[in-house]
Amino acid sequence: MKIILATRNKGKVKEFNVLAEGTKLEFIPLPKEIGNLPEETGTTFQENALIKAKFAFENCGGVACLADDSGLEVNFLDGAPGIYSARYSEEGTDYSNTLKLLKKMNGVPKEDRKASFKCSLVLLGKEYNHTVEGSFEGEIGTLLKGKNGFGYDPIFVVPGSGLHLAELNQIEKIKISHRAIAFRELKAVLEVSK
Ligand code: IMP
Repeated sequence: MKIILATRNKGKVKEFNVLAEGTKLEFIPLPKEIGNLPEETGTTFQENALIKAKFAFENCGGVACLADDSGLEVNFLDGAPGIYSARYSEEGTDYSNTLKLLKKMNGVPKEDRKASFKCSLVLLGKEYNHTVEGSFEGEIGTLLKGKNGFGYDPIFVVPGSGLHLAELNQIEKIKISHRAIAFRELKAVLEVSK
């Protein structure tokens, strides 16, 4: 079953196809002629994923479409940066966002550094209307470590291992991430595992 992924990020199409290994699902990119995705004006990850999924489904001739929205929630900061994860700092780069967060957490004791990556997935199709969520718990480190990944990976400490997400290899990370957790839910709803 082919599903259009409502994103302009080619890396994400690859990532979802890794997650879909062993299922009947295949993710394909959003056709170029559809143009840009609408602005993410929702107040939750779920609302933003729905905005993208709806736009894609309404413009892709009835092919099922999946959209995701994700970000980092830090308990000590009352859930910030949350839906603003990509635009947390003025500059809005991964590096400047990460440095801003580290600064905000400066001096905060280990027990108050809990955080989680959240992911909402919305699948819309002629026969589908599903929303699932994934949460990946960890904590905010005190320095940047590792060269892999993107976003807040260099400061996110994986529970148990003590490793920062950016120190894991990409496939390892994809399989344990918030997107993987949400995707597992979606597979269960669709019953598509072999
Ligand atoms: P998006 O919804 O996947 O585009 O993610 C929005 C923002 O959340 C990204 O720009 C990152 O700052 C952050 N983010 C989401 N997922 C991850 C992740 O797996 N690692 C690090 N940062 C992430």
